[in-house]
Amino acid sequence: MSPKPPKTKQRGATPTIGLVSLGCPKALVDSERILTRLRAEGYALSRDYSGADAVVVNTCGFLNSAKEESLAAIGEALAENGRVIVTGCLGVEADRIRDRYPGVLAVTGPQQYEAVVAAVHDAVPRRHDPFVDLVPPQGIKLTPRHYAYLKISEGCNHTCSFCIIPHLRGPLTSRPLADVMREAERLVAAGVQELLVISQDTSAYGLDLGYAESTWRDRSFETRFVDLAAALGSLGVWVRLHYVYPYPHVDQVLPLMADGRVLPYLDIPFQHASPRILKAMRRPAHQEKTLQRIAKWRQECPELAIRSTFIVGFPGETEEDFTELLDWLSAARLARVGCFKYEDVEGAPANALPGQVPDEVKSERFARLMAHQQAISESVLAERVGTTIEVMVDAVDEEGAVARSHWDAPEIDGNVFIDASEGLKPGDRLMVTIDEASEYDLWAKPVASFA
Ligand code: SF4
Repeated sequence: MSPKPPKTKQRGATPTIGLVSLGCPKALVDSERILTRLRAEGYALSRDYSGADAVVVNTCGFLNSAKEESLAAIGEALAENGRVIVTGCLGVEADRIRDRYPGVLAVTGPQQYEAVVAAVHDAVPRRHDPFVDLVPPQGIKLTPRHYAYLKISEGCNHTCSFCIIPHLRGPLTSRPLADVMREAERLVAAGVQELLVISQDTSAYGLDLGYAESTWRDRSFETRFVDLAAALGSLGVWVRLHYVYPYPHVDQVLPLMADGRVLPYLDIPFQHASPRILKAMRRPAHQEKTLQRIAKWRQECPELAIRSTFIVGFPGETEEDFTELLDWLSAARLARVGCFKYEDVEGAPANALPGQVPDEVKSERFARLMAHQQAISESVLAERVGTTIEVMVDAVDEEGAVARSHWDAPEIDGNVFIDASEGLKPGDRLMVTIDEASEYDLWAKPVASFA
């Protein structure tokens, strides 16, 4: 595929950039930062290839399938626009990208905001306009207006054997608490009703800074997971914690959940339940007795919803290990579960482990786990029928509103469908009574307006 020749633009026309964002919410936050910076410098943003002077492709490099998808996206951008700057996780494999697509203008790695912006300056020189402030104070968001991801740290100090994120993104680097809180305040002032806290390891937040003190609203806070949860919980919006590991200090956040200051929702990527497999995976907190911890948390906060992801077919996983995982799921009765079939990731130590599981066994275990969890989820959700809960509206049409409860993170969990829409708009919070449940979703009627 040969790149298209550079466009010639009218002199004085506003330089315009397109962006293709692939990968996880952390990559999405990187995209938002790049766009915010470019918009601040006077660049316009284009939603299609044809309107852009150049296109930035923010890639994902986690799994081999994600790398292929990223390479395909680069190829498409080259074919459609011709002037392409590559950034993100796959950017660490610059030679591979240039071998396939010699015409790309620049390749930069994850979080290299300065380098991406410099590459954009080279490709499409900026126009100076000191009189126009083009950026809203909350920056440019790629999520709907009523919720936003809040990235509190980059990188990771762990060495999970199936993962190359620490290699791609480096060790844990936390943002000072006051810095995170100022961004959170700007988002709330701009109408955000739900903050989704993300990182690679939210519970380790601040460790790299020695939990340094940080002043916000004239109060001193430590840059620490629990202090951050408390500060965010004072903003009056939903606060949802993702990527938490079950370290002992996580117990301290449960009172905030029981009090309603932080959503009673924990996204904990357990990945497996067999101690042998968890050890081979080198998972953080793998020695924790998780079922006892979950029971204790539920005593303290009965409303707690736990979401998790699991990997089946990890090298060395026997039928016995897998059955242990199913039994653990029966005992844990998690609200929300995602499952992946193990895949080799280039450069990950797990590739060299003995006992690789054949693809058909992985597929069979995947189907069994999903069916097993579906029955659990169905019975857990059935228990909610007749209860009254708070929900947040995501979308409205003539037939009703699509909302979420505290059990549902956007995009990944279920929905609450409301058979009324009058007067409702995205971001509204209201009380509803649940009158029907399926395996993953709920149906409800409004009780009274809340927000
Ligand atoms: S905790 Fe493990 S899986 Fe998560 S980013 Fe760190 S090394 Fe990767």
